[in-house]
Amino acid sequence: MSIRGYICLAVLSSCGRPPVAVALHHGRHLATAANVPADSKAVKTAEDTSTASGAFHTARDLLSPIKHATRLTEGRALRQDVWSVFNAVNLPSDCINLGQGYMNFPPPDWAREGAQEALCSTMGNQYAHPKGIPRLRKAMQNFYGTQFHERELDMETEMMVTNGATEGQYAAFTAFVDPGDEVIIMEPFFDQYLQCVVFNGGVPVFVPLHPNAGDPGKRCKPTWTLDMDTLSRAITPRTKMIVLNTPHNPIGKVFTREELEAIAELADKHNLLVISDEVYEHLVYDREHVRFATLPGMWKRTITVGSAGKLFAATGWRVGWLIGPPALIAPAYAASLRLVYCANTPMQGAVAVGLEQAGERGFFETQTNEYKERKAILTDAFERLCLNYTQPEGAYFITVDVSNLQWPADYPFPQNIRDRRRDFHAAWFMAMEVGVAPLPLTDFYCDAHASINENYIRFSYAKDLNTLRSAAERLQSLKRYLK
Ligand code: GLN
Repeated sequence: MSIRGYICLAVLSSCGRPPVAVALHHGRHLATAANVPADSKAVKTAEDTSTASGAFHTARDLLSPIKHATRLTEGRALRQDVWSVFNAVNLPSDCINLGQGYMNFPPPDWAREGAQEALCSTMGNQYAHPKGIPRLRKAMQNFYGTQFHERELDMETEMMVTNGATEGQYAAFTAFVDPGDEVIIMEPFFDQYLQCVVFNGGVPVFVPLHPNAGDPGKRCKPTWTLDMDTLSRAITPRTKMIVLNTPHNPIGKVFTREELEAIAELADKHNLLVISDEVYEHLVYDREHVRFATLPGMWKRTITVGSAGKLFAATGWRVGWLIGPPALIAPAYAASLRLVYCANTPMQGAVAVGLEQAGERGFFETQTNEYKERKAILTDAFERLCLNYTQPEGAYFITVDVSNLQWPADYPFPQNIRDRRRDFHAAWFMAMEVGVAPLPLTDFYCDAHASINENYIRFSYAKDLNTLRSAAERLQSLKRYLK
């Protein structure tokens, strides 16, 4: 398996392949509104358009005497990304969207009251302290207690609140990546990491995780594995950091203590910074979530990334945080100050109340059990279909192997799908013909590696039970297309 770093300029260029605008609808899909329960929130509503993400331009919009910065092309940022191709606005209105991971159920009322309270006050509508409102940082200090080290986190120096995990992460890269620094990313990877590296002048080095063949008699496969030798060989004198993501998006893997210890050994040996994206920390199913920063010697070299959006079913609140030693948080804070100055004030109020009350309400235990129920509906659907899938250990994603799905050879894929790999074809076909939209996985790879696993698609089960039951039923109509 090839693992050496790819200078993205060489392999990720979208030059000469201008982004194609919105996909066509064939109007041939079998699903009808009648398949969706009346109370289902999965049917596209006006609000769905506000979740639109990714490229908003057409090739024509980019015609200008002013040349845009090359980092956009190098970072794949002008290409129509998977979030925009499979956005609800491009899907049939009755399609159940299990692509982008966002919830169709509300955050808890009692947390939302925190935002209400802030909005009704004067200062709750003004700039927050750029480190985060004191109430939220205090709530974080109590919430995490001694989980990171022997004493509570220092709310002045060991944490900072950010505009969602995404901004916090970006600030961390800006703070630590110098031009030419290599950053190790495990594939498939949450696509934002690529831009975090490339926009800051770094060089991404990709290390693939491997699907697990498991027991041939079982549809449910163990999670994907990391080959430590490959990881070790990917490290060079230019390596500055490793991006770790546990629980993992998109495959739902929760790294074991042994795996993390092996990564820690490498980080220690080569003096690496570790960005540990743990935004799904409270969605772990019957296994241990090991905080990388708590492994021996790792606190001083780890920035942990957290997200209120994942904790409280509130991805639109855009509140996240970074936790780490003062020497790592201070530079990230300096970068964040210049990027955004501070995070959204009233929503920080909601998160503060959420963290203050979650424990006594048993909120995360209940939420995890609800997610287990949601997960079971989809895994059961894949069992019935005899499709191989990876057992999710955490987060809210299931990856499914669709190598034996066969659509008609003359299926009229729109151009922007036809140009992409097999997983895009499979996902589009399902969205149009079955009325359930998953997400293809190849956008979570660098271009040079995209062919490795082009038979995997991801389903998000961050949806209510009725919606998932409808999706599970619809998916059964795939049977006739399975070889
Ligand atoms: N983290 C979410 C997912 O993986 C949403 C990401 C996004 O919208 N860019 O589905």
